[in-house]
Amino acid sequence: MREVKHFIGGKYVGSVSDRRFVNRDPATGAKIGETHEGGHEEIEAAVSAARAALRGPWSRLSLDERTAVLHRIADGINARFDEFLDAECGDTGKPKQVASQIDIPRSAANFSFFAEALKGFAAESFMLDTKDSAGALSYTVRKPKGVIGVISPWNMPLLLMTWKVAPALACGNSVVVKPSEETPTTAALLGDVMNAAGVPPGVYNVVHGFGPDSAGAFLTEHPDVDAITFTGETSTGETIMRAAASGVRDISFELGGKNPGIVFADCDMNKAVAGTLRSVFDNCGQICLSTERLYVERAIFDEFVVRLKTGAEHLVLGAWNHPGTTLGPLISQNHRDKVLVYYKRAIEQGATVITGGGVPEMPGELAGGAWVQPTIWTGLSDDSVIVREEIFGPCCHVRPFDSEDEVIALANDTRYGLGAALWSENTSRAHRVAQQLGVGTCWVNSWMLRDLRTPFGGSKHSGIGREGGVHSLKFYTELQNICVKL
Ligand code: NAD
Repeated sequence: MREVKHFIGGKYVGSVSDRRFVNRDPATGAKIGETHEGGHEEIEAAVSAARAALRGPWSRLSLDERTAVLHRIADGINARFDEFLDAECGDTGKPKQVASQIDIPRSAANFSFFAEALKGFAAESFMLDTKDSAGALSYTVRKPKGVIGVISPWNMPLLLMTWKVAPALACGNSVVVKPSEETPTTAALLGDVMNAAGVPPGVYNVVHGFGPDSAGAFLTEHPDVDAITFTGETSTGETIMRAAASGVRDISFELGGKNPGIVFADCDMNKAVAGTLRSVFDNCGQICLSTERLYVERAIFDEFVVRLKTGAEHLVLGAWNHPGTTLGPLISQNHRDKVLVYYKRAIEQGATVITGGGVPEMPGELAGGAWVQPTIWTGLSDDSVIVREEIFGPCCHVRPFDSEDEVIALANDTRYGLGAALWSENTSRAHRVAQQLGVGTCWVNSWMLRDLRTPFGGSKHSGIGREGGVHSLKFYTELQNICVKL
């Protein structure tokens, strides 16, 4: 039974009040450990430690020194790969083969990537003509923004948290992280790696707890936090935005999605089916980029739905450490209750259930887990809640379309604007349609193919700002202009 503590000022500490909450294995419902719940005292201690660290040498390291520290963090994660892997899978229930290929290696890569990205982060300079013709030189300097509040979700805990922490540290900031209450373990484990990599105490801090009236809200409301970066639900983003307004603190938000998949009749059917199965069911549909609305050109609609059904029915539900498992449970019973409300609403609103639609029978101890069946529906109207709201489960609604203009209008008919996947072998059409979609990222004949140099984020209710490459480095630095009369 594990006990997860806060990491403040380079040390693991329990809550002053000794208040704790229970963590459960999503696959069985069994208790797997307890986590200390932070309150005002812990947030105060972490923010003070982070502020103090900025007065030390951390923000003034040379480029070579900083790059070396970041690479040592990446090496430290890789050196303890199996420990991180087991912790992440234990907290989330996601299959080991997925986390070993995506979550843990990408988390290490976040640090090595930003170590290298920093080297190419250029300053601007301009020559200004002056009347005496000597001119003036204006150049920019980028400085750390200060103490960064990092609030992260449970679906890819270490990957999404380090996606923020790595560039923040690369730019010389200190951070206070509030990981999701569902998945506290890897953020805590990273503290050890930070110490071993020579990160000074107070640069990386973790306080566990919940959102409202708990560590999350206290962190975003703390006046000595200079900027807040958040990944999670849109409604939580709205609350955090209000907190950030006090003190006009900067924010970067990666929020929810209701992502369309668009399949044209001229697609490569095998690739489109395989890619769509991944985009709907990977991580049990708990990815902000998951496809939940699928539009298929009428000429191939019936065949596509049959092939999707076959693929969904071949998914293997099981424990994360079982080698054959391809689909894990949802994160918690609470989340399962929410997803099952949508499964019920789909039937009430007249959906045709192509496959799934309920709860699978799981053997032995798995019977107590947060399982739902992979589910495909057709036949719902465009204003159905299933088509409009983010469900965050292993499910999608499929609808036929007849023309390019029609499918562009359907895809854009949403308050979200995060991602889209488009399948067509007609390159001109792919470019034409992709550019008309109101999303931060549109994949063509692929899904979740990430180049860390490119901007990532969403438009409309899916976020504010972009992270990735130079876009992250810009957010985590304060820009200063210096004008020198020559
Ligand atoms: P959530 O918003 O419920 O929680 C995210 C984090 O915010 C948690 O750490 C939580 O404790 C904290 N929190 C909650 N209320 C808070 C408050 N009032 N003040 C401060 N912190 C608070 O989201 P979740 O359920 O953990 O994650 C799922 C959501 O995240 C989905 O909507 C998904 O689309 C989104 N998401 C988006 C991206 C992206 O890159 N756009 C990536 C992953 C997940």
